[in-house]
Amino acid sequence: MAALNLPYEGKASNAVLAQLDDARLLRQLAYINGKWVAGNDDIAVTNPADDHVLGYVTSLKKSQVDKAINAAHKAFVPWRALSAEQRATKLMSWHDLLLENREDLARLMVLEQGKALNDARGEIDYGASFIRWFAEEARRAYGETIPSHIPNAQLATLREPIGVAALITPWNFPNAMITRKAAAALAIGCTVIVKPANETPFSALALAELAERAGIPAGVFNVVTGDAPMIAATLCASDKVKALSFTGSTRVGKILLEQCADTVKKCSMELGGNAPFIVLPDMDIHEAANAAIDAKFQTSGQDCLAANRIFVPREYHDEFVAAFAAGMQKLRVGNGMQKGVDLGPLISRQAVEKAQKLVDDALEKGATLLAGKSPQSLNSNFFHPVLLTQVTPDMAVYREENFCPVAGVIAYDNVDDLLVAANDTEYGLAAYVYGNDIRDIWKLMRGLEFGMVSVNSVKMTGHPIPFGGMKQSGLGREGSRHGFDEYSEIKYYCLGGLPTASGC
Ligand code: ADP
Repeated sequence: MAALNLPYEGKASNAVLAQLDDARLLRQLAYINGKWVAGNDDIAVTNPADDHVLGYVTSLKKSQVDKAINAAHKAFVPWRALSAEQRATKLMSWHDLLLENREDLARLMVLEQGKALNDARGEIDYGASFIRWFAEEARRAYGETIPSHIPNAQLATLREPIGVAALITPWNFPNAMITRKAAAALAIGCTVIVKPANETPFSALALAELAERAGIPAGVFNVVTGDAPMIAATLCASDKVKALSFTGSTRVGKILLEQCADTVKKCSMELGGNAPFIVLPDMDIHEAANAAIDAKFQTSGQDCLAANRIFVPREYHDEFVAAFAAGMQKLRVGNGMQKGVDLGPLISRQAVEKAQKLVDDALEKGATLLAGKSPQSLNSNFFHPVLLTQVTPDMAVYREENFCPVAGVIAYDNVDDLLVAANDTEYGLAAYVYGNDIRDIWKLMRGLEFGMVSVNSVKMTGHPIPFGGMKQSGLGREGSRHGFDEYSEIKYYCLGGLPTASGC
């Protein structure tokens, strides 16, 4: 390969560079005010499938995070002054570049995140779809006129961009969790500072590289890397940052909400999930088992939408478990780059330890284990799929967001008890219902305390839908026409003292 003028050239693994058609997509510095910036230290980024170091990202100093805030603050004025059309044109160039570089972006994602290559390709399409959606929606970010209760006045609302938005994103969907937030914010006229997870910074930095190529002006899209608590605290404390959008654990979400209280920031939070997957008695058990496998094991179960608790009618329990176990046996665990692999590694050794703890706790409390095929000659970041039966509410696997390929089955006797059990969680993100009886389906759909209920379909997300949770699963919605709400203010105006219109 020809010598490349890469930042940190020589520090990125040649094995990584050789896998990219465009090696310049592997950026290792932070992106602030249109410049690639080095901080104090380097943080190694490893491939969870083999623990090899892929490269390094820079760890910024606090003063550099402040610079990013100032740059975004300054860039806000000219960016919001552009017409929606002008911003949309730049966003569509960014969108097109994502799709042109889909293969490289997907490979980078597999290398740092571990998921299967086909899933990574799907995520790039999914990520790009939010950019297109919000570029289009920006031109329809209407206010409203209000029939006046005041004589000789006109009343109306405008939707105004809120200002600088801080976006803190997780490692399980390293591309789409950024675009879903950033596209909404940028399209409506905000500028953004993205703090990606340290496990998966390269996907975020590649997005910055493409934003630069798309002509998104300096300061409008910034990516800061390094110490998460320090960076988050700096962003939350700043008066110049007007909105915070976070996707991650409920634990960290609560810390950030506290930190934002002082400046009364607008906060949107996509936090944990503990999705029930409900099989109704009139459902084809094999079809339900296959759907439950899909809803459980995507991204190796590291998905806030993953089916955590699978509720099955007692009379069909054994049949369901047999069908689920048979389907689970077919799942291939391995390096996400290999063809035919369904489940990649978990993100880290700690994630494996947590998965094992969940299983041990359940077994101690009386669950029965049915394990999938053990992966051969894989490193210790891999965790093979597990099915637990006789799961009860006192087990961590029932209470906590699993975030691993561990499925728990619970038998139920009637739909009313089932509804109480399904809602017996502090979380309220997604729920799945499989069945035919419209009365049961409707009862569940209305009774489930979850922000998203999917009936007879595992696939439920996408750009046009309002993604978000109830209870401790979060605040606000992402995607759909509601996605702008998190990054805009409604300004009401009253234009009084007007002449009476003739004829009125
Ligand atoms: P997960 O359990 O999915 O890893 P986390 O909530 O731990 O979710 O991480 C999501 C994001 O929050 C990441 O970008 C991470 O760097 C950031 N983060 C983790 N811990 C903290 C913290 N104490 N303060 C602020 N941000 C944090």
